[in-house]
Amino acid sequence: MKHKLTLRSKMTLWFTISVVAITLLFFGVLFFITQTRLTEMLEDDLSLALSQLSSQVEHKNGQLYFEDETPVKSGIMYYIMEENGSELTSHGEDIAAFDAYPVQAETFTHAQYAGESWLLLDSSFITVGDENIRIRVAASSRQIQQTLHIFWLIFLLGVPFMTALAAFVGSLLAKQSLKPIQQIIRCANEITAGDLSRRIPESSNKNELGALANTLNHMLASLEDSFRRERRFTSDASHELRTPVAVITAYAESLLTDDSLSKEEHSKVETILNECSRMQRMVSQMLTLTRGQEGRYPVLMEKVCLNDVLDGVQAVLEPIAAESSITLHFAAAPAIVLSADQSLLTQLVLNLTENAIKYGKTGGDVWVNAAQTDDTILLTVHDNGIGISAENLPHIFERFFRADTARDRSGTGLGLSIAQWITSIHGGTIQAESQLGHGTTFTVTLPKHGASFVHVK
Ligand code: ADP
Repeated sequence: MKHKLTLRSKMTLWFTISVVAITLLFFGVLFFITQTRLTEMLEDDLSLALSQLSSQVEHKNGQLYFEDETPVKSGIMYYIMEENGSELTSHGEDIAAFDAYPVQAETFTHAQYAGESWLLLDSSFITVGDENIRIRVAASSRQIQQTLHIFWLIFLLGVPFMTALAAFVGSLLAKQSLKPIQQIIRCANEITAGDLSRRIPESSNKNELGALANTLNHMLASLEDSFRRERRFTSDASHELRTPVAVITAYAESLLTDDSLSKEEHSKVETILNECSRMQRMVSQMLTLTRGQEGRYPVLMEKVCLNDVLDGVQAVLEPIAAESSITLHFAAAPAIVLSADQSLLTQLVLNLTENAIKYGKTGGDVWVNAAQTDDTILLTVHDNGIGISAENLPHIFERFFRADTARDRSGTGLGLSIAQWITSIHGGTIQAESQLGHGTTFTVTLPKHGASFVHVK
């Protein structure tokens, strides 16, 4: 299974790896320098001891003497050997233990003895008077080993600690540096929820994220502008279309009264009138919708009794339902009062119930129920009609969407868009559930005390 790391985890990981790598490199270099320097110091001690010792050998009366005037540094063992193999002097009883190591003049030799590392230095033959001598000095590297051991200990304890610390600091740094991106994401999500007038807060420091916010804001501004122009065009076009449609309707109506028309011509004029009435409804719905979305629709919030609204809708729609032998069942809790625009609320219930009748089956039923809690109102409109397919269901609130244009010529595809807009300006939500062939339920939830914000875009 592939795990996708978040950006924060990636940044933390890279930071931790970099810090640990730098720490390892630093420790490595320090270890090398310390080891080299300490070994050099030991070698210097041995070289110094060698020259000290050689300067203290004298030749008097055909004999070699060792004058121990300046003692060598403590811890250094040595012997001075005459050419014939007899020992002139020695210091340190263990020096003989290194006899197994062959003499290599002027060369440092690493040796092991009593579980420790030692460094040996042999001189070449030195002539004193007419005698030749050879000196060997040896010193333990114990101190170097101990220092390097402490070094290792610090390293072994330090690396896990540094790793944990780097991960912690890296995570905090990543969180801090991604904070503005989180803000941008949050804001962009709210904007995609529908309000194009909102802008991403631009931070005062002019860094890359500030530039990103700026670019997004420019994009939003031009999007908002083109949406505004599109809405204005639709609104103007709908407005302009009202007069010609009214004129056509008037002429068609006057033609109907003309007795000289044949039956066929009469039926054609009636078709013109039907289409005109549909066009009139569409133009007026488009105007409502675009004005509403532009915030130019005069919304009047007042205390409204939902029961009265339901009674009104029932009275208007009962005759229409009766035409398709559909029974309307209205049931509401007593005295449901909410803060709303009465005519828009009526329009909302009307649109949903009209649809339930229009897409209901002959002899079927439509149930309109209203219930309330302390602060919300739940309105459901349910029918046992044709239903909506799962494929069409996500699109029914889109403007001009009609699932079955062949079946229904009278629809405009705007009724549910208007219902959604009305719900949203009241701060509520609308949802649809449906099963093809079995019926549809629309559920509207409205806050009782009005929208906490009036969102009209
Ligand atoms: P229309 O004027 O076409 O009814 P709407 O916006 O009111 O426009 O509805 C959009 C589409 O959603 C309709 O064309 C219809 O296909 C579907 N629809 C809406 N309400 C119902 C319902 N109660 N039952 C079945 N389909 C529905």
